[in-house]
Amino acid sequence: IYILAIESSCDDTSAAVLLNKKVLSNVVATQKIHQEYGGVVPELASRAHQQNIVPVVHQALMRANIDKKLLSAIAFTRGPGLLGSLLVGTSFAKSLALGLQIPLVEVNHMQAHILAHFIDGQDYRGPSFPFLALTLSGGHTQIVLVKDYLKMEILGETLDDAVGEAFDKSAKILGLPYPGGPLIDIYAQLGNPKAFPFPKPRVAGLNFSFSGLKTSILYFVQKEVKANPNFVLENRNDICASIQHTIVRILMDKIKEAVKQTGVKHVAIGGGVSANSGIRAALKSAEKKYGWHVYLPKLEYCTDNAAMIGITGYFKFMQNQLTDQNISAKARYKI
Ligand code: ATP
Ligand code: FE
Repeated sequence: IYILAIESSCDDTSAAVLLNKKVLSNVVATQKIHQEYGGVVPELASRAHQQNIVPVVHQALMRANIDKKLLSAIAFTRGPGLLGSLLVGTSFAKSLALGLQIPLVEVNHMQAHILAHFIDGQDYRGPSFPFLALTLSGGHTQIVLVKDYLKMEILGETLDDAVGEAFDKSAKILGLPYPGGPLIDIYAQLGNPKAFPFPKPRVAGLNFSFSGLKTSILYFVQKEVKANPNFVLENRNDICASIQHTIVRILMDKIKEAVKQTGVKHVAIGGGVSANSGIRAALKSAEKKYGWHVYLPKLEYCTDNAAMIGITGYFKFMQNQLTDQNISAKARYKI
């Protein structure tokens, strides 16, 4: 089965070609335009998708070295995401499927972040069911009980900011450019995680909250800068290490709780923040300490990419979960 997959939910335009579970090509065009605004500007994102989509799809087919007549189906991200961005990928996928007379498969982006674990060529075979998936991204933070490829149940999620936002907003307070998450990660590795203790929020059950942390970092920085205008510059690595340490502790506490509640010891992470070295290290050590099985996807499959849409499309196609030309994009779309 050859599947062409298209992802356009946020600020990356991506297309991939899969032969069953194997990725033949995975092209990602990241939009640079948002950097100067310190965040994604929806209107500019959809315009950039319109410019990128034809060349990106073309590239994906070229690199896979297949003719589009060989395609069995087209999978696309229906949601969740920015409506204007989703519309570009959705309309493109629909027209191409119509032109080629092949089936369409609609894909939930968050489900795809989880099913990325089943792409051939990871360092492990896909997790065995049931497993716990922690989706850590720019717009979501969820603990999901995955019972089968397409059977998922959300056990907990954030009540306010996503973990990626917590990273990016903290970075912004420190004057770092957008997206600041990866920069915090880099500086954190050079600093002392215990230098500045930030409070952990108290949220019952398996839900998360990150907005309080952001506020306490803001007040802390404002106070210190008043006393020493160079505070951030002089302590950048320690501040970043402390922020990252706090976020990792928050995440680990909830996963431990989820393992306790469900008895499921297979833990997989997905989404852009799963690239974070702190969370990867913490999970690795929990694996040894508590006998968990931990699954860390390759970095290219953590951030937004069409390969994960393709693998999800593959599983849906195999179960005959197809859609038709009446389908429309869905900005809010639960798994
Ligand atoms: P969603 O999937 O919820 O729609 P999104 O697709 O925009 O959101 P992703 O691309 O999955 O989000 O992830 C982007 C986020 O990951 C950004 O907030 C970015 O700062 C964060 N991120 C990427 N790498 C790292 C890292 N090493 N450490 C911390 N955060 C990181
Ligand atoms: Fe994403």
